[in-house]
Amino acid sequence: MQTFQLSTKLCFGDGALAALRELPIQRALLVTDPFFAENGTAARIAELCKGEVQVFSEVQPDPPLSLVARGVALLQDFKPDTLIALGGGSAIDCAKGMLSLGKDRPYFVAIPTTSGTGSEVTSFAILTHQGVKHPLVEAALRPDLAVLDDSLLQRLPKSLIADAGMDVVAHCVEAVAAKGASPLTQALAVSAYETVVKLLPVSYEGDSSVRGSIHCAATMAGIAFDQAGLGACHALSHALGGLFHIAHGKLNGILLPHVMEYNRDYAPYKLLGSNASFSITRLRRRSQLPQSLTEAGIKREAFLSKLDDLCAAALSDPCSHSNPRPVSKDAYESILRACL
Ligand SMILES: [Zn+2]
Repeated sequence: MQTFQLSTKLCFGDGALAALRELPIQRALLVTDPFFAENGTAARIAELCKGEVQVFSEVQPDPPLSLVARGVALLQDFKPDTLIALGGGSAIDCAKGMLSLGKDRPYFVAIPTTSGTGSEVTSFAILTHQGVKHPLVEAALRPDLAVLDDSLLQRLPKSLIADAGMDVVAHCVEAVAAKGASPLTQALAVSAYETVVKLLPVSYEGDSSVRGSIHCAATMAGIAFDQAGLGACHALSHALGGLFHIAHGKLNGILLPHVMEYNRDYAPYKLLGSNASFSITRLRRRSQLPQSLTEAGIKREAFLSKLDDLCAAALSDPCSHSNPRPVSKDAYESILRACL
């Protein structure tokens, strides 16, 4: 038996933020990063809410457990009926960590400002503790409402567009082949993949009119991998990101063609077109993403000294279990070496 469960209401397109006006909020806690607090976006969101809004704007990239613990203390003090996460994957994952560790579960709204992680519709969150990325997977972490508003995407830095876009591509490629894949997840993943491969270079070159389409595609890919699972690319990307602090999308772009080669006889990549691996390598070049771990700034000696730790971390990552081909330490070591 297979299942496919949707539990997040989506409001999308221009003006989607108006959905916040309809919520019966008395007290909301808004979780965001200092950038959105300083540029007025957090205040703009707070104005749309009916009740009192307190802002927690300390989110940093790769949210550590210590930050989540401060957020949990605020949740317990302020007792909001609504928790709103505004930002990229880090803000949404921090809010999810707070939900996971807190006692009561308020109504949970995610407002993504990048088009990448799909965290606005998934039961996944990634928290970092002492250089190790810990994936959380709980159904209660799926937001109740995701607001995809095009107006938040107009001034994205180019490097963020590229990183986030390559993350979406990795979600699509892994969701098509993961152990939990079904015709439903594959339809979403293939459609999202085609959109991103076609439009990411256009967005990267500065045309913001296509960003709403990419934003929807990122969410579709999120729905797909939330149901299907991910694979070796994400297991290795989490391990490398925890130790070397390189953007998740950059790592995925380097790993993906090598993981696809490893999975070749076990995965229906033909659903993505005749030569998906080649399209991904070309997209990576056009988006000025690094072609190798060395090019991403990882030193050969540091990498080789951590190879055993990286393989161990990747093998214990839940994404390893949903890879279509069984993985092993030897397999991970040779994929990692090929990425150097
Ligand atoms: Zn990802």
